[in-house]
Amino acid sequence: MVGWFSKLVVAMTIRMPRWFVRWVSRRYVAGPSLEDAVLVMKRLEKEGACFTIDVLGEEIHSIDEAIEFYNEYENAIRAISTNSLDANISIKPTAFGIHIDYTKGAELIEKLIRFAGEFDMFVRLDMEDHRVTDDTIKIVTELHGKGLTNVGTVLQGRLHRTLDDIKNMKQILGPAADYRICKGIYLEPEEIAFTSYNDIVEATNAAIKEMLNAGAYVGIASHDKPVIDYSIQQLKQHGMGANQTDPRSNAGAERKGKGPGYEFQMLLGVRGPMRRKLLNDGHRVRVYIPYGEKWYEYSIRRLKENPTIGTHVAKAFLMPWTNRP
Ligand code: FAD
Repeated sequence: MVGWFSKLVVAMTIRMPRWFVRWVSRRYVAGPSLEDAVLVMKRLEKEGACFTIDVLGEEIHSIDEAIEFYNEYENAIRAISTNSLDANISIKPTAFGIHIDYTKGAELIEKLIRFAGEFDMFVRLDMEDHRVTDDTIKIVTELHGKGLTNVGTVLQGRLHRTLDDIKNMKQILGPAADYRICKGIYLEPEEIAFTSYNDIVEATNAAIKEMLNAGAYVGIASHDKPVIDYSIQQLKQHGMGANQTDPRSNAGAERKGKGPGYEFQMLLGVRGPMRRKLLNDGHRVRVYIPYGEKWYEYSIRRLKENPTIGTHVAKAFLMPWTNRP
């Protein structure tokens, strides 16, 4: 349930001038340019973090706009390589046009996966709302079928379907499956998703367990203590954890650059102390780095999509010690 306070924060923020929104979003968005993202990564790599880059954009209306995204991601891949950063990229399938022309969008995504492969780089397909869940999973499984295994998807704990998706993908991808698991940012209808905090945490934790049992690589994307604590306990039960190699007999071969079968993932600007604690304890932690000209539209859309972010933002300002970057 979204509280009145969150709604109020969102309603106020979207009416504020652009400079104010930029001021609020500064800690969550690296900046308008790729150079800004590189600078942020260089700063955070001193903590020992690794990264995934997200080029911000709004809904596109033509394949030409998708090609612009493609080109920017090529630039990002080159910059990661030139600056020797421990980073990969995250893309939104609709930014590549799959909702306009599935075939053309999927081809463009494939082209990018092949390009990233030349740099030995992994590409994560972010998961958007439930209208594109099937297509996103389909693209990943089809690319693996073509021998392109440097790609993986995100599953959302809040969706009822997620445990079945893990079981199906286990059949198709085996240990090559590489997931990011998160609660899911989109407020989905209750016919297809859990809606209460406790149910979402429970379902997300169940998905993490299922992924670990399946021998998959698991990127645990959460800042929520009950999810992180549960994950560490589950990792222990699998003989996994900080500074250990993945001992699971059903796991894939050594996965270059991806750590011991799992990693934690966090958003730029969110819960720095928790991130640093995980890093200091020896866990691999990947920070999600959004950048792009469309930072304003992105910030407003995110707030509208899920007003609970409003509470997080307000909390970060009113109680900064709970969420230092
Ligand atoms: P919450 O209970 O929401 O948050 C726990 C605490 O973390 C909060 O109390 C607050 O202190 C802090 N916090 C969390 N979010 C914020 C924020 N935005 N601003 C300030 N403080 C915050 N969702 C998708 O649907 N598809 C994706 O592809 C996707 N990719 C993601 C990638 C990464 C690396 C991460 C970390 C999240 C991603 N998400 C994605 C979002 C995710 O689904 C959740 O909506 C989000 O992470 C909040 O859930 P939480 O588990 O952190 O728990």
